[in-house]
Amino acid sequence: MQANLFNLMVTSIRPTCVKRIGPILATAQRRHYASTLDADVVVIGGGPGGYVASIKAAQLGMKTVCVEKDPTLGGTCLNVGCIPSKSLLNNSHYYHMAHSGDLNDRGIIVQNVQLDLNKLMEQKVNVVKALTGGIAGLFKKNKVEWVKGHGKITGKNQVSALNPDGSVGTTINTKNILIATGSEVAPFPGIEIDEKQIVSSTGALSLSAVPKKMIVIGLGVIGLELGSVWQRLGADVVGVEFTNSIGGVGIDGEVSKALEKILVKQGLKFKLGTKVTGAKKTGGGVEVSVEDAKDPSKKETLSCDILLVCIGRRPYTANLGLEDLGIERDERGRIPVNNRFQTVVPNIYAFGDCIHGPMLAHKAEDEGIITVEGITGGAVHIDYNCIPSVIYTHPEVGWVGKTEEDLKKEGIDYKIGKFPHMANSRAKTNLDTDGFVKVLADKNTDKILGVHMIGSVAGELINEAVLAMEYGASAEDVARTCHAHPTCSEALKEANLAAYFGKPINF
Ligand SMILES: Cc1cc2nc3c(=O)[nH]c(=O)nc-3n(C[C@H](O)[C@H](O)[C@H](O)COP(=O)(O)OP(=O)(O)OC[C@H]3O[C@@H](n4cnc5c(N)ncnc54)[C@H](O)[C@@H]3O)c2cc1C
Repeated sequence: MQANLFNLMVTSIRPTCVKRIGPILATAQRRHYASTLDADVVVIGGGPGGYVASIKAAQLGMKTVCVEKDPTLGGTCLNVGCIPSKSLLNNSHYYHMAHSGDLNDRGIIVQNVQLDLNKLMEQKVNVVKALTGGIAGLFKKNKVEWVKGHGKITGKNQVSALNPDGSVGTTINTKNILIATGSEVAPFPGIEIDEKQIVSSTGALSLSAVPKKMIVIGLGVIGLELGSVWQRLGADVVGVEFTNSIGGVGIDGEVSKALEKILVKQGLKFKLGTKVTGAKKTGGGVEVSVEDAKDPSKKETLSCDILLVCIGRRPYTANLGLEDLGIERDERGRIPVNNRFQTVVPNIYAFGDCIHGPMLAHKAEDEGIITVEGITGGAVHIDYNCIPSVIYTHPEVGWVGKTEEDLKKEGIDYKIGKFPHMANSRAKTNLDTDGFVKVLADKNTDKILGVHMIGSVAGELINEAVLAMEYGASAEDVARTCHAHPTCSEALKEANLAAYFGKPINF
């Protein structure tokens, strides 16, 4: 508001005067005038959880203010997460297809394939700009007021938006406060990230040159995705992982092993069961000390020009004022909430990456929406067993529900239906046959308990499995549902057929 007023004043003054009063206005602008607002809901954080909750609250008729500290809306996901990483994954995949001769094998002759990294990055920046700007547009359309500043809860019914110098900009008196402050990169003790040679996922999204050699610490979803990007663009990528498998938490063991084989065939190198003990910069490069996770006497020093530290994320709740309200955090820094997403202070809610559960954009969005609906008296229900996960490598990996390991641990009798893409007509037509679909169903009731898949469009196909599970479908229900031909989704139908009847048709 203040800035707009100043802009208006400046544009209505004759150019000669601007020269003289310009500095005075600039000082006044910097001083950040304090103001007060009233609201029904204040959402702190404009990421997928916060922006979606803000729009929903406004749509339900609540006067809604969203306080966001960063210059753009969209949070981690749009600015330094899902969207920029998928832009790089998509375009690096095309480059790789052209460069590796894959396109030539399809009869599309491309020669002298070159990489224009600046252009590739420009595309990424453009899509981020368009999408974050789109949220600002949606805020306007839905009458959500965006207050820029660091939101601090200064009372049970009050949020202060702090200016960068720590002074209070806007004070908002409100009935409800929604905390959607997300997460930040988890540091690796003893390894300092400079975002130049030793980078986090954020730095790895914006490298100015393709590294000759990159080491990735941590082979969860983000490590695999960003490792794939730079390997496709020409880097020699070595992934170091403490556990003996790739893909992170929740991936089915069989799928993880299959993915490992496929990615190794593509050229990625993995050191599993290996513990990183330190890293030091050596002029142009980085030396990384590792040892066998089981036998520390087996030590090795690896070198690279870029080290990517990807060991996870942790909740971000800095300077929120939680302590003064008696809102404690758990041992992992998360804000405890009940099943209506209320903290110990009933009109203060939290959701998304800053609470328990998988750190995923769609989980944050769903929680944000039902939190708001709950405030207006609606039902609050979320089935965490029906939250899908996707790894956007090529082929993609998608899963929902229980893994075989979970079912064994829980002593549940299950049956498996599997179908390879090699036998799927669309995958074969597309020359994209890596992977399979695996359905786990209850042995007695046929209810689908988990679906796991690797395949070129697993990130899309998994949503059909989510829908089936959300509505308690049996394997037979999906197997008897007509699927368009030829589509990769027929592999899901066939895997369900294999689960309930024991035999698919086309394999
Ligand atoms: C490289 C990478 C790739 C990813 N890819 C995927 C993917 O493909 N799919 C997927 O589902 N997830 C992905 N994620 C995870 C996803 O980004 C997060 O789960 C999601 O952004 C969480 O949403 P959120 O709203 O809880 O928090 P965030 O997106 O972190 O948003 C929180 C917002 O709150 C703001 N904020 C924090 N504190 C304050 C304060 N006190 N005052 C004002 N503003 C504040 C922050 O500036 C931020 O904008 C990825 C993450 C990374 C890092």
